[in-house]
Amino acid sequence: MNTPPILPPAMLGILGGGQLGRMFAVAAKTMGYKVTVLDPDPNAPAAEFADRHLCAPFDDRAALDELAKCAAVTTEFENVNADAMRSLAKHTNVSPSGDCVSIAQNRIQEKARIRKAGLQTAPYQAVCKAEDITEASAQFLPGILKTATLGYDGKGQIRVKTLDELKAAFAEHGGVDCVLEKMVDLRGEISVIVCRLNDENVQTFDPAENIHENGILAYSIVPARLSADVQQQARQTAQRLADELDYVGVLAVEMFVVGDTHELLVNETAPRTHNSGHHTIDACAADQFQQQVRIMCNLPPADTKLLSPCCMANILGDVWQEDGGEPDWLPLQSRPNAHLHLYGKKTAQKGRKMGHFTVLTTDSDTAFQEAKKLHQSL
Ligand code: ADP
Ligand code: MG
Repeated sequence: MNTPPILPPAMLGILGGGQLGRMFAVAAKTMGYKVTVLDPDPNAPAAEFADRHLCAPFDDRAALDELAKCAAVTTEFENVNADAMRSLAKHTNVSPSGDCVSIAQNRIQEKARIRKAGLQTAPYQAVCKAEDITEASAQFLPGILKTATLGYDGKGQIRVKTLDELKAAFAEHGGVDCVLEKMVDLRGEISVIVCRLNDENVQTFDPAENIHENGILAYSIVPARLSADVQQQARQTAQRLADELDYVGVLAVEMFVVGDTHELLVNETAPRTHNSGHHTIDACAADQFQQQVRIMCNLPPADTKLLSPCCMANILGDVWQEDGGEPDWLPLQSRPNAHLHLYGKKTAQKGRKMGHFTVLTTDSDTAFQEAKKLHQSL
């Protein structure tokens, strides 16, 4: 643990150049570092802010060799090749580890680790072959059959009520490894972002209360409208999981708030910065991207203090006009307490995350109401 800190103007590398990579690059550049981005898309959002854009496939040997020359390397997307990260780790400082990334890529492994950490998940069973579906599976019904890998924004999920529906859903998923999860009495969804360098240097952000629309995150409200006690438990839960994984980097932990007692069940994790942490740019002492930079540079994470209640709203391609015409930014841009972030994506598509804005105000309810109203003005 005596790795020396990496200081500016060292070159930092990132696998992936989407919006998370873009905000990472902004943070790193602001802090005086140089940035290399690997992404096959010539229009990758992060490229605008990078000193160097390696425009090549993620498994391109020559590009990975270049990335290996960076003082440290991180990632911004979930399905990054874990082996590429392991091989980079032979040459440079890589965080998070390929092992942690690969656990988060598979719901079966992920849930097993959550349970191993002594934390709760929704009741579930793994379904990897047709014979795994037995009479005993009925205890997880009604439930959701989720593919073990590659699911996101509600994709790869089928809701099932009976054993027959379950069998049909497994066939519809093509017989790939799945998790059958019992439907729980959801009262809310929250996430906690953990920033961890080692046992002694861990910070958690305040839990965000997440509101989804059509399976995609629409709003994150902070502070979450939950008791101080539940919020504290949420932070401890997320930190315990990061400790269990000996995680180095920024880890997002999504949790369900269940039943009258607001019991917390861990749903899933993302081994990276997270959409529900975008408010940290405008509303926290240090944001999640600065934390990612600090940790990959062996520096302790900074203070995560929330400076104002706020609500982050995602801006999807849906609000662009049919002909690609821009939404009306004026109402939003005229507001002194609203902060717009656009990701520089060339084409707007339905459901595509094009940007976000964060409203800072007196309390969570007002922030949420204002954000909804401003979103409607687009
Ligand atoms: P994704 O990878 O698509 O985000 P999630 O596992 O987070 O997949 O599921 C998407 C959404 O479906 C959740 O945010 C939640 O609203 C709902 N959901 C998922 N699992 C359950 C469950 N066991 N009980 C009730 N609702 C669930
Ligand atoms: Mg989710």
